[in-house]
Amino acid sequence: MTQSDLDQQFMRCALELAAKAEAEGEVPVGAVVVHNGVVVGQGWNRLIGQHDATAHAEMMALRQAGKVLQNYRLLDAVLYVTLEPCPMCASAMVHSRIGKVVFGAPDYKTGAAGSVMNLLDYEGANHHVTHQGGVMEEECRAQLQAFFRRRRAEKKTERDMRKGLLNTDSNKPESSAKN
Ligand SMILES: [Zn+2]
Repeated sequence: MTQSDLDQQFMRCALELAAKAEAEGEVPVGAVVVHNGVVVGQGWNRLIGQHDATAHAEMMALRQAGKVLQNYRLLDAVLYVTLEPCPMCASAMVHSRIGKVVFGAPDYKTGAAGSVMNLLDYEGANHHVTHQGGVMEEECRAQLQAFFRRRRAEKKTERDMRKGLLNTDSNKPESSAKN
């Protein structure tokens, strides 16, 4: 198996975890931490379910990996995530001294691995994290786009229904006064 085959295999695991997030009503992002070829950390977005703004997929995966390896330092580990990490997660990756980060789709709004800023390779930091984007980018992006498309459609239906209800109400003014 080549490195690229391995990368795809682990990114597929991350995509499956992202689907789990989606099933729980969260934005579909999934992450795995791999150490010596073994998955030691799994995470998916759980912000809403856990009432925790820090419960991003990557944070969950890093926390589990630390517990499994009994070490907050994840020197030789590789983290795979379906979406480019945000500043919080990128900083956590630096703090964990993780060996490498591989991500799928870039995040042009908050990506902190090169798209908006680059905290993994920040000049002033004393630890730099090797990173690579664009692994299974199409699949990762498609999953997120489908989610947001569906959510927009649901919101529109909701709005239309509310508008419809309001219109019905205004069509029968004073109806209760007559009773
Ligand atoms: Zn994050």
